[in-house]
Amino acid sequence: MFDAHAHLCWKSFDKDREEVVERAREKIAGVIVSSARLEEGFCVLDLVKKHSGFLFASLGFHPTEGDELEKTIQLIKANKNDIVAVGEVGLDYHYCKDSKGREKQKEVFKRFISLAKEIGKPLVIHSWDAEEDAFSLVKDAGVAATFHCFTGSKELALKIVNAGFYVSISTNVLFSKKIRKTAKALPLDSLLLETDAPFLDPDRGRNVPWTILQSAEKIAELRGIAGEEVGKAALENAKKLFGI
Ligand SMILES: [Zn+2]
Repeated sequence: MFDAHAHLCWKSFDKDREEVVERAREKIAGVIVSSARLEEGFCVLDLVKKHSGFLFASLGFHPTEGDELEKTIQLIKANKNDIVAVGEVGLDYHYCKDSKGREKQKEVFKRFISLAKEIGKPLVIHSWDAEEDAFSLVKDAGVAATFHCFTGSKELALKIVNAGFYVSISTNVLFSKKIRKTAKALPLDSLLLETDAPFLDPDRGRNVPWTILQSAEKIAELRGIAGEEVGKAALENAKKLFGI
């Protein structure tokens, strides 16, 4: 089992970050620790250094939460050998309703697509209510990518994986009918599991990386297979995509 997206540098882990990492180590094989903002990126680099081989870094610039664009790009370039992905980056139309703002997001996203290509890393794409546009921008870009916490339609998810990308099922599969449909339909060799911790906890508390164990069981139940089979596939897919 592998958690392909968690924010272990989020403030809600400030009090017990090391403890959470140790508990995760007992239960799962690894975690991609993602950043959305510049400061979070510094923390991610420090944390993965301390836990190399178990935690892996993905540095990004969230479309609505991101700050310090140029400095974030510099940070990614300067640490390209210590990260496994660029992200999360992408588009968020859920929180951005005006066309001017959306155009600006697209321009920023294009810069990160080029950056990922330049440094030879996959993209971790945020695409809330903007899945179609994110897909069309990345489709022919010649980069590997995963659509993190995918909440678009099942039909689009299948198009995305047919184009060679991965779709990451977050722990909202435990409470969303829409996500369950997607999780049931995706080919096992195109699916990742993630928590997006501390967000998306099924009990509305603080999510933790090992909640993917519950996701794997749920997805397995939907497909009539064993939980380990889902977990194993998600681990192999993560290894392949992130080169770990
Ligand atoms: Zn995230």
